[in-house]
Amino acid sequence: PSVPDCEALQHADVAQLLPVPSGESDKYRRGVVGIVAGSARYPGAAVLAVAGALHGGAGAVRYVGHAADDVIARFPETLVSAGPVAKAGRVQAWVVGPGLGDGPGAEEVLASDVPVLVDADGLRGLDAAAVRARSAPTLLTPHAGEAAALLGVGRAEVESARLRCVRELADRYGATVLLKGSTTLVADPGGRAPVRVNPTGTAWLATAGSGDVLSGLAGSLLAAGLAARDAASVAAYLHGLAARHAADGAPLSASAVAGSLAGAWRDVYA
Ligand code: AMP
Ligand code: MG
Repeated sequence: PSVPDCEALQHADVAQLLPVPSGESDKYRRGVVGIVAGSARYPGAAVLAVAGALHGGAGAVRYVGHAADDVIARFPETLVSAGPVAKAGRVQAWVVGPGLGDGPGAEEVLASDVPVLVDADGLRGLDAAAVRARSAPTLLTPHAGEAAALLGVGRAEVESARLRCVRELADRYGATVLLKGSTTLVADPGGRAPVRVNPTGTAWLATAGSGDVLSGLAGSLLAAGLAARDAASVAAYLHGLAARHAADGAPLSASAVAGSLAGAWRDVYA
């Protein structure tokens, strides 16, 4: 049988994939997500990624970086440290990149043997050979500009051939790729599985910081044990639903999207 090019998740699919705690759960078994994000220049990206992760169902969120004071001020439940990553303690999945600026990139985290999500500044100069050599799954979450830089083409070329570009990036890096934009696409390497097209969302999401919330959320789902393809597509789905709650026909802030994630979970279960 021929495989369709694309598919879209629906509420029932997402409800089935969401991690829900049971009587035997404890915070470590639910998953610990580590976030490497933020810098003196961009502390807010760290706060927003942590916000997304806390609402993503992980048992605990560890933050490593230079915005620990800002993170703790907003989310005292976060476990913070200044680094290095190897000393952070047990983590089931890492998110690296939002707001790192021109500081150290994704290398330290990519050396770990747990799933890693790379976004934003972590994608700059990302070494395809290093990603391909990893033993655990890698998820890349570029917007069109970041995808264009990774492919060495212009942004317009990505915008005009998003399906081809997301597949090409997945193959080149041997990683799952979530290409953000007005229609968010998720591709696995190898070209066998259909590309997932996200059916939720709103153009009000085109606002600073919304991608940082998405990366924390997807990282949390990776830490809970979802496959990269499922973590990415479920995160995009919930993020889009949360944005509809937050916007409701009016402008939204990325903070409001994070704050509306609980409403998105409830929608899916309703
Ligand atoms: P970033 O570019 O990293 O800030 O991420 C922006 C977020 O907003 C991603 O989740 C995009 O998919 C989403 N987004 C950006 N522009 C649009 C749009 N025109 N319609 C729907 N979602 C969008
Ligand atoms: Mg971004």
